[in-house]
Amino acid sequence: MNRMLEPRLARGLAAALALVVAGVSHAQPAPNAVVNVYSARHYQTDEAMYANFTKETGIRINRIEGKEDELLERIRNEGASSPADVFITVDASRLELADKAGVFQPVQSKALDARIPSNLRTPNWFAFSTRARVIVYGNKAGINPEWVQTYEDLANPRLKGQVCVRSGSHPYNLSLGAALLTHDGEAKTEAWAKGLVANFARAPKGGDTDQLRAVAAGECGVALANTYYVARLMRSAKPEDVKDMAALTVVWPNQKSWGTHVNVSGAGVIKTAPNKANAVKFLEYLAGDSAQAYFADGNNEWPVVKTVVVKNPALDKLGPFKADELPVDKWAPNTVAAQKVFDRAGWR
Ligand code: FE
Repeated sequence: MNRMLEPRLARGLAAALALVVAGVSHAQPAPNAVVNVYSARHYQTDEAMYANFTKETGIRINRIEGKEDELLERIRNEGASSPADVFITVDASRLELADKAGVFQPVQSKALDARIPSNLRTPNWFAFSTRARVIVYGNKAGINPEWVQTYEDLANPRLKGQVCVRSGSHPYNLSLGAALLTHDGEAKTEAWAKGLVANFARAPKGGDTDQLRAVAAGECGVALANTYYVARLMRSAKPEDVKDMAALTVVWPNQKSWGTHVNVSGAGVIKTAPNKANAVKFLEYLAGDSAQAYFADGNNEWPVVKTVVVKNPALDKLGPFKADELPVDKWAPNTVAAQKVFDRAGWR
């Protein structure tokens, strides 16, 4: 009897084993599975985040780093044969421009929809961390805090000769302009931009940190800067940074109206992605708990997933604030209109 059963048992076992193997090979990526990530983010903590993805999924990450515009140009030049699967960059206006250029494809993912708030995603790209654009004034500039509570306040003539800000064609200002345009309308935003330009302490130059330093040095009374630049100064132990920070006060703008303008770091799947499934897996991974903490804290930003709490002493010290909740796909498309408004206002 046993001997007669044995072949059948063996066949059954073999079949079951084949099913298991098939199941495993279906769930596991091919041994040479890869995702090609074009990244304009370069933070040290990103290394650990990428390594962890490969450990979790077996999918190798082939990372191509560069400046936002160069990477975008490269993807467009490579055309249909581009190896690019994912494009990661900072700033909603840049993501919007990439989207307008037809670089992304729609991604449908229950995991991404469940994790990322609806105002921080679009059909074609997703935000993974946020940063706010704040007003910073000099403690010895003779500025009444009541004068600098909103973005709109910065155009008031009583701040004549006091305002330092980077170029009007920089994406951070274009994104802010797009948000203002969406809330206040085009005419009001143009009047605002003209008033702002009339208040400049100097012609726009340098980055956000340069504006903070200029305020600390007394060259200007007030500036605009993204929170991670402020947080970077706050976390620095260098004596000159400690001294500069002690000379500054940070204001959360528009707390009594539409909230502080919030920008994003984000990513999308490339239209011609040769490894689309892996690309979606990678985006889903970025919305996971550990990646969210890495992704946000690496540059002193906030995770988009609300349940993920990052312990960041500088961000904690800046305290809670009311953020503008306007959906990113409502205001980001106004970036182009904002540039025209700034050009007419002479904000170079
Ligand atoms: Fe920046």
